[in-house]
This record gives sequence, C-alpha cells and structure tokens, in this order.
Amino acid sequence: MLPIVSHPCYSFPFPDKHRFPMSKFGLLMAHLRQTGIATSANSFRPGRCRDDWVHAVHCPDYVARFRSNQQTRKELRRMNLPWSEDLVRRTLIAPAGTVLTAQLALHYGVACHQAGGTHHAHHDYAAGFCIINDLAITAKVLLHRNRLQRVLIFDCDVHQGDGTARLLQEEPGAVTCSIHCGRNFPFTKALSDLDVALEDDLGDEAYLNVVSDSLYQLLDRYQPELVLYVAGVDIYEGDPLGRLRVSRAGLRERERMVLSELKRRRIPVASVIGGGYDDDRSALAQRHAMVTEEAGRLWTDSAEDRA
Ligand SMILES: [Zn+2]
Repeated sequence: MLPIVSHPCYSFPFPDKHRFPMSKFGLLMAHLRQTGIATSANSFRPGRCRDDWVHAVHCPDYVARFRSNQQTRKELRRMNLPWSEDLVRRTLIAPAGTVLTAQLALHYGVACHQAGGTHHAHHDYAAGFCIINDLAITAKVLLHRNRLQRVLIFDCDVHQGDGTARLLQEEPGAVTCSIHCGRNFPFTKALSDLDVALEDDLGDEAYLNVVSDSLYQLLDRYQPELVLYVAGVDIYEGDPLGRLRVSRAGLRERERMVLSELKRRRIPVASVIGGGYDDDRSALAQRHAMVTEEAGRLWTDSAEDRA
C-alpha cells in the first residue's frame, strides 16, 4: 500500500494573486483522487502537532506570537504570508502530517505527504513562506521517540534548506543535504552536512547526475534508517522562483530515480512536496503529483513489495 497523508485545511481561501499558491494542496489531492492513486483505503489525516514537538525545535515565544498574530511588521514581511486563523490552523497541523508520513514510511516502506518541506523556518522566525519546520520536528521525533539512529533529509527543492540545516546542527543523528541553485534565495546560506550549489540554467542530464551522485554518496556514508525526501518542483524550467532548466520529463525522472534507489536499498522514504510556483495552479499540482505517482508505480506494481 502507498500511504497518502493530507488534510482538507491545507488549502483555504487565500488571495489569488499572491505568489504563494495556497490552493495547490487541495488541487493536488483532487488530482490524486481522480487518477485513483488516493482512495479512502490509503488516505491518512493528521491531527494538530503536539506543542512539545514544536517547542523542541522552535522558540515558544515565537510560536505564541505567531498564533496570536503579534508578530512585528518586519517579521510578517519575512514570513511573506498574510496572517489568518486558517493559516495558523494549517501551520500547526502540517508538521504532524510529516511526522505521520515518516512513521507510516517506517511501517510500509514509503509514504507521501501532500504538503510539507517548510525548510526556511528558523528557531524564532519565519521566512520564505515557512513558519514551522516540519523536517526538523520530524527528524527529532524519529530520533528520540522512534529511536532511530540516523535520518537523512534529502532536500531537492531549488532553494537551500537553511532552516533545517541550522535547527539540526546539534543533532548528530540527523544528516542534512541540500541540492539547490547557488544564486537563489536564501542569499546567506547555512551549512548542511552536504550542500550542492548548482549553477543557473542547469539542464536535465547534469542535474540528474548531481542528484544521483549525491544520494549514493550519502547513503553509502551514513546508512540512514529513513530518508525524508523534499521533492520541491521549483527546479522546473517554467517555475518563476527557480533558476534551473529541468524539464517535466527530467523532474519525473528525478522522482523515479530517487525513489527506486531507496527501494532497491530497502530504506524507508517519506516524501514531502516542498516548493513549487506557477500561476497555472492545476499544472503546478500535477507536477507535485509526480513523486506520489512514481511511488505508486514502484511500490504497488508487484505483490512482493507488500511483504
Ligand atoms: Zn523552494
């Protein structure tokens, strides 16, 4: 079975002209249902993230100020999302969705969260549409509650996972990797265990080689017991916030290649969708669906995989 994690609150009424495509989460689930990939039998819905999990990563005062709309104007500008009760609700549920996805992946070998990857969220401030860092929270829960020894965060969003790198710096069991466009946001980079800064306009072949080389190197060196895969689609050539030239076919090949290698090595993988931007929200949702589609193909096509 391919577990799919989502929540109806992920998309909510939101300014349509805003750069952040809040409607994509609902469109993505609609697409997965229409194509028969998500059914009532394999869909899971998270609850609200526990406060102690959030506070293991974030400053309680920052979280309280976000929840009660008491951030300064400067903080709001950095967050770059209009505050609302709906935003608070989805922000406090989504990290629990990534934790649930990871725990399902430990059981089933794979699971796909239809949100998550808020990698620019820092200890006491939000940045670049990211408020609470689901990846750092999930890594800590897996290491301390599920007692894993090593978790790899393999971040292929086109922007560096700076928040995740900083939040997990003192967490020896968490290995962070970011493969991003060097000239892109954030302009001050953090230090991950492995950072690969790509040149602008990199095309399919060179991009896919870097991703596979980095993945193999990390798996050989660290032998993680679970991989959190940030499948950001802003590497796509048509993405207004990316600077790379990866085609739709190249994007699909990345998802197939990453997932098939993890399956081959029998390493559980939990995917989150990461960033992706487009005025055509349906086309964007379809690009985000690729990672789940490829997981479905790899894990449900033969009966032996269910063992
Ligand atoms: Zn991004």
